[in-house]
Amino acid sequence: MSNLELDPREIRGGAGEVAGREVLEGREVPLGGPRAMTVSRTLPGVHRRMIGAWCFVDAYGPEQATMRVPPHPHTGLQTVSWLVAGEVLHRDSLGTLQEIRPGRLNLMTAGRGISHSEESPAGSVLHGVQLWVALPDASRHVEPGFEHHPTLPVLSGPGFAATVVMGTLGGVTSPATAYSPLAGAEIAVDGDCEVPVDPAFEHGLLLLDGEVAEVGRGPLVYLPPGRSGVRLSGRGRVLLIGGEPFGEEIVMWWNFVGRSHDEIAAYRKEWMEGEGFGTVEGFDGAPLPAPVLPGTRLKPRGRVR
Ligand code: MN
Repeated sequence: MSNLELDPREIRGGAGEVAGREVLEGREVPLGGPRAMTVSRTLPGVHRRMIGAWCFVDAYGPEQATMRVPPHPHTGLQTVSWLVAGEVLHRDSLGTLQEIRPGRLNLMTAGRGISHSEESPAGSVLHGVQLWVALPDASRHVEPGFEHHPTLPVLSGPGFAATVVMGTLGGVTSPATAYSPLAGAEIAVDGDCEVPVDPAFEHGLLLLDGEVAEVGRGPLVYLPPGRSGVRLSGRGRVLLIGGEPFGEEIVMWWNFVGRSHDEIAAYRKEWMEGEGFGTVEGFDGAPLPAPVLPGTRLKPRGRVR
């Protein structure tokens, strides 16, 4: 088990399963103001904080909701926006105005700093995930960028079709820019299947819709490295995220990923002073103020705690 701590929530897989499978329960987090929508946040968890470079997983819907996230900053990460239903309009400080719809990828690379807003038509059905990928130290100060990918490659096999959103799955690579070895895919399952995966990667599985036996509704199922395939059975859609275990310790606070308390404090100060993150044009409302920093110093943390 190398450096993995055992956790009370860990459950052992059945025959043929690699030991170390864990069920990461989400917690309900309200997003946005008075008409808040609720998201289920499964990463970071108290114990497991990252899967590969994936450091944040929020799932929402399907529900009638209004997403209205005013302009806010990011550093040191990429945001991966993926919808199952509905539409979301993205604006950012590079001047981007881009709607996303199901099956299309919005990928924003914050790098050294960017700000953006997200909104959806009032009271329409929303269903999707908001994911963050931490940038490795060598890439975390890259220029900010935005990519929209209306079509993505598909890996097909008996009983499944996987849309490869980020990284590489079964030899099929997404055109989206990635900065560490990773995989991100929406897998449509129809019957029994085995999806090939990289044995060097750890993985997470989240049910998006339907019924898939190996993935309960709600939690993120964690699979440690050392398997060449993921067996799934049922009918539905599953989000798969994975990557090489992230070797660096990071500080995640509010919308920033950095490496030290002082760096995060400097990002916060810049944002509050209106510097360093550009301006989002066209959003009807004021930017989000940063919360107050905690009284204790933020500590860098590794992938598990
Ligand atoms: Mn954001």
